Amino acid sequence: MNILIATSEVVPYAKTGGLGDVCGALPQAFAKMGHNTKVFLPKYKSTDAHAHLMKKIDVSLQIAINGSTYELSCFSIKDKKLPLEYIFIANDNLFNRPELYMDKATGKDYKDNDDRFIFFNQAVLQVSKLISFKPDIAHVHDWQAALIPAYLKLNYQHDPFYTNCKSLLTIHNLAFHGMFPNKSFTKLGISTKLFYPTSPFEFYGKVNFLKAAIAYSDKITTVSKTYAKEIQTVEFGCGLEGVLKERSKDIVGILNGVDYKIWSPTRDSEIAFSYRPQNLSGKKANKIELLNVAKLPVRDKTPLIGIISRLSDQKGFDLIEEIADKLFSYNVQVILLGTGDKKYHELFKSLEKKYPDKCKAFLKFDNSLAHKIEAGADIFLMPSKYEPCGLNQIFSLKYGTIPIVRKVGGLADTVLPYNHSTGSGNGFVFEKYESSELLTSIQEALELYSHRHKWTKLMKSAMAEDFSWQKSADQYIQLFESLLSKNYEKTL
Ligand code: ADP
Repeated sequence: MNILIATSEVVPYAKTGGLGDVCGALPQAFAKMGHNTKVFLPKYKSTDAHAHLMKKIDVSLQIAINGSTYELSCFSIKDKKLPLEYIFIANDNLFNRPELYMDKATGKDYKDNDDRFIFFNQAVLQVSKLISFKPDIAHVHDWQAALIPAYLKLNYQHDPFYTNCKSLLTIHNLAFHGMFPNKSFTKLGISTKLFYPTSPFEFYGKVNFLKAAIAYSDKITTVSKTYAKEIQTVEFGCGLEGVLKERSKDIVGILNGVDYKIWSPTRDSEIAFSYRPQNLSGKKANKIELLNVAKLPVRDKTPLIGIISRLSDQKGFDLIEEIADKLFSYNVQVILLGTGDKKYHELFKSLEKKYPDKCKAFLKFDNSLAHKIEAGADIFLMPSKYEPCGLNQIFSLKYGTIPIVRKVGGLADTVLPYNHSTGSGNGFVFEKYESSELLTSIQEALELYSHRHKWTKLMKSAMAEDFSWQKSADQYIQLFESLLSKNYEKTL
């Protein structure tokens, strides 16, 4: 089948988080199964590093948004072995910027994110038609590609090129809606009759791209089974629980996979020492190397906790803040890699000062270091308030870096609590979003760490887990096939 993927992030071209990992790996899995796959993404500054591989596509287009006209050009990178092509939608004014979505200096979203992504969504459908790529499925990811299902249903419903195309929205994080002032609606190129209270585009007087995709896409997936249920509740629904509940029958949870070519200690090209369950000496060597990079003292029996994360409230840093002094009173070291909220930058800077031989904070985005932390740490901490899927805990399992997580979303679906009597499980799990529960889990982990034999056994169980993409890709393809079957009728 012909699969069109529209996304704002694709590893290795552009990434701010898990979306980039998923949209890097999943299209490859589709293509490996023989499906003709084209991935559309904006051409950012970050993609310049790959410019030498790009070929210009001969399309010349202009897209008008509320009186402003934007030139569009297009570039392509074709996979040499697979039926897979990346198509870069370019407009330097809109996309050739240091960051993907926000101005780093102010920490605020770019003011013209509406124009940028309206342009991108319109461009995808226009370019696909111009290059005669007739998709059976338009698989769109998050708010940045969320207008495509609406355009297909409202603007292209009579266009034979697209009439049979079904759309699937994947929600990677419901907290990000793509919300803009009501005056942005006129930019969409959609009848203004469709902007009224409770319409698919309207959310408390504003324009909400994600809400539109929830209404207009033929099916909706999110990235774990538990999160698929959670988002239909007030606690996790971010105000969209009502519209999601209306689509309940069409919502499916498909867990993200991991690209083990990139994220496994046997194949990782970013780490100094590869290792495998049968011989873990490389892990110890990576730990020493990491402690040296962090300029922390190497202490043989001291467990090293790693954290790699966006520094946002979602990720449970308020809990860590509450227990920090207690945590550092134990025989433990912590290395954090992350960027985000200023308050957490300050928190970790102050912890680093207070505990110079125990804490190191790398306040930056550094892919190579992320791999080194996965390989070098003993324990991975991820006490999220909510977590659609979470990738780092899954990476951690493969590196024998035992995760401590909260039982929520994809964390609940991938980390199973260690059972002291049977030795089953692959990590440590706490339930309530309370710092005392987090602390108890950390204590439990530290205690087990001192029993080397049991700990090594736990590491081996974790490393044996398999979250490769194939299973998830199969589920997506089954879903696509069900959409394309004659019996399918959308239940709007
Ligand atoms: P989210 O998408 O919510 O940020 P995930 O756990 O799903 O969280 O994915 C995060 C991805 O981003 C992982 O691949 C992780 O390694 C990476 N990442 C997060 N912060 C950093 C950072 N500061 N430097 C390098 N990689 C990071």
